Amino acid sequence: MLETPLKKAFRTTAKHIKLLEILGLKNVRDLLLYFPRGYTDASETNSLSHIQIGELNTFEGYLSNYFNRRTKTGKFLTKALFTDDSGSIDILWFNQPHVTRMFPAGKRVLLTGKPKMNMKRITLMNPIGELKKENQLHTGRIVPVYHETKGLTSKWLRGKIQPILEMYIHELQDPLPQEIREKLNLISYKKAVQEVHFPTDDRSLEEAKKRLAFDELFILQLKVLQKKWYWQHHFGMEDGDTRKIKIENEKLDAFIKSLPFKLTNAQKKTLDEILEDLQRPYAMARLVQGDVGSGKTIVAGIAAKVTMDNGKQVALMAPTEILAKQHYKTLAKLFIPQGINIQILLGSTPEKVKKEIYNAIATGTVDIVIGTHALIQEGVTFRKLGLAIIDEQHRFGVKQRNILKEQGTPHLLSLSATPIPRTLAMTIYGDQDLSIIDELPPGRKPIITRIVPEEKRNDAYEWIEKQIAEGRQVFIVCPLIDESDEMQSKSVIKEYEHLATNIFPKLKLAFLHGRLKQEEKDDIMDRFSKNETNILVSTSVIEVGIDVPNATIMIIEGAEHFGLSQLHQFRGRVGRGEHQSYCFLFTNKETPQATHRLKAMTEHQSGFKLAEIDLELRGPGEIYGARQSGIPDLKMASLSDSKVIAQARATAEKIIAEDPLLKKTEHEPLQALIAEKEEVYIKD
Ligand code: ADP
Ligand code: MG
Repeated sequence: MLETPLKKAFRTTAKHIKLLEILGLKNVRDLLLYFPRGYTDASETNSLSHIQIGELNTFEGYLSNYFNRRTKTGKFLTKALFTDDSGSIDILWFNQPHVTRMFPAGKRVLLTGKPKMNMKRITLMNPIGELKKENQLHTGRIVPVYHETKGLTSKWLRGKIQPILEMYIHELQDPLPQEIREKLNLISYKKAVQEVHFPTDDRSLEEAKKRLAFDELFILQLKVLQKKWYWQHHFGMEDGDTRKIKIENEKLDAFIKSLPFKLTNAQKKTLDEILEDLQRPYAMARLVQGDVGSGKTIVAGIAAKVTMDNGKQVALMAPTEILAKQHYKTLAKLFIPQGINIQILLGSTPEKVKKEIYNAIATGTVDIVIGTHALIQEGVTFRKLGLAIIDEQHRFGVKQRNILKEQGTPHLLSLSATPIPRTLAMTIYGDQDLSIIDELPPGRKPIITRIVPEEKRNDAYEWIEKQIAEGRQVFIVCPLIDESDEMQSKSVIKEYEHLATNIFPKLKLAFLHGRLKQEEKDDIMDRFSKNETNILVSTSVIEVGIDVPNATIMIIEGAEHFGLSQLHQFRGRVGRGEHQSYCFLFTNKETPQATHRLKAMTEHQSGFKLAEIDLELRGPGEIYGARQSGIPDLKMASLSDSKVIAQARATAEKIIAEDPLLKKTEHEPLQALIAEKEEVYIKD
């Protein structure tokens, strides 16, 4: 049985059982699925006449002339002569007295190691050895290397895993339906597990990895798609028809025509996708990704308009008061002339006004409410919420997002200005459909981006002063020192003081960091947006989405410390007005990787392009911070492998469409695997 505890599966000590537990290995299944973290290729044997000094070699021959002694430092030294058909070399082992017993003189043996030249004699020190047999474990093959823990070596694990594989592999069930396996040309699960531990050759190892990587991504996709299905179908299905939004094309066209600009093609495409969702009987779950300034607000605004034309309410939640106010300003201009009742609800809204708004929300007299977290406080109950829009969705927790969802399961539209590559978004935000606005409105000037070496710093400051004299404003982002908020804040204050006293004594400066109270931050931003301050010195916490069209210069100190996506986010704070904008990357450390990153900034303006480069350069874990962003911990697959991700997604979509709860017999093992990963989202 796969559930057999390891202490019953083989003979070992209690100490080893404890160590296995540290690695998370309790039963036979755990061990079978404990895949190697890498391999040493010792499959090609070499003859001593072709020995490669300093490289990994594997030789086949026999040992003789054993000689044991203690060194002056007390080490146990074993010397021997190794001979094959073409010659002999010296072997040295330190502190491995058992080798004499393990490899009796004259028996055929394989040795793997890196030979060295030692006083004109070739010596092989501490080689890995194994008697010649039919199934080599430790040498003479592609050797699996496992994550180890102190006291538990890969060698020990290999010795245990091999017999366990032999005994139990037939019990492993293949979770993939045969049809999929055949269609995608994947090898069987048993074969894959066997081969991933003890590969026959390179090709079979590749096949095994391919199969297991697919499984991993496929299960993930099934999980998120099933979650989406639940969200869309499970709750309130009985009122499905009332959820359908009817679209009156003439009215819609007239509204779009009344806008002060023409929609870009990317906006139109996204809008079409949203409108299609809205007309369905089940709730939309859609994420719109688009660079800063790509015009997400208006697309959301049109969706809101259509919803309100159906007599339903709309909520728009933003992560900060400033952003909420900004949205309110934009949308009020559009909606008030249409006779729409639009309100704003903030944490700072006076209690009395709050009560009035709560009341209007509950009775349905208000059509659209813009707000912050204040929208999801107790007391807010919508009469007929048709559409919930969440701006900068990643700034909210899953729980917070769900609260709006639970107001009668409205259509849900999330917006994000943090572009991530499509394949990655499909995994992390896979429970939502994805729309991408990858085009900026016409006439935007690219932000001129330059890497500034230290010796040009003073020139840059002089130039900045001139720009400020012409009325422009400047952001300065301080370097990332370490994780701590306190250190970060201190460095901002220090930089601020330095700049204010030594560099720009005549100018008005302010600083912003994470340890300030929200009201203080709002106040500082407010004054900056009114051009009462010339320069804002800040940590990396500069408020997202903030719109100060007059700020045209972004200075990033220690730019090499930031990832591309973050640099791009910073740069997005400028370039929002009529004036040419600039981004200066200050750096004094030049590692090839950092240079590559900063150069990419000077060459590309698109957040999607930069995110792709970032993903290639650093991998998803490092960029997005594995835990907080829900990046799954993948063992075999890679989140940058877009081909396999797309394949897994498409296959999972087909299955969920046919059998959303995976109840068919052939899908049962899949459901079991999903359940194991995470509980399926169920409203409580
Ligand atoms: P974001 O995607 O960052 O939320 P916004 O929705 O705030 O971007 O739009 C940025 C600016 O671009 C706003 O001033 C908006 O009025 C303007 N805008 C949006 N769409 C267009 C368009 N198609 N043509 C011209 N300007 C547009
Ligand atoms: Mg926005």
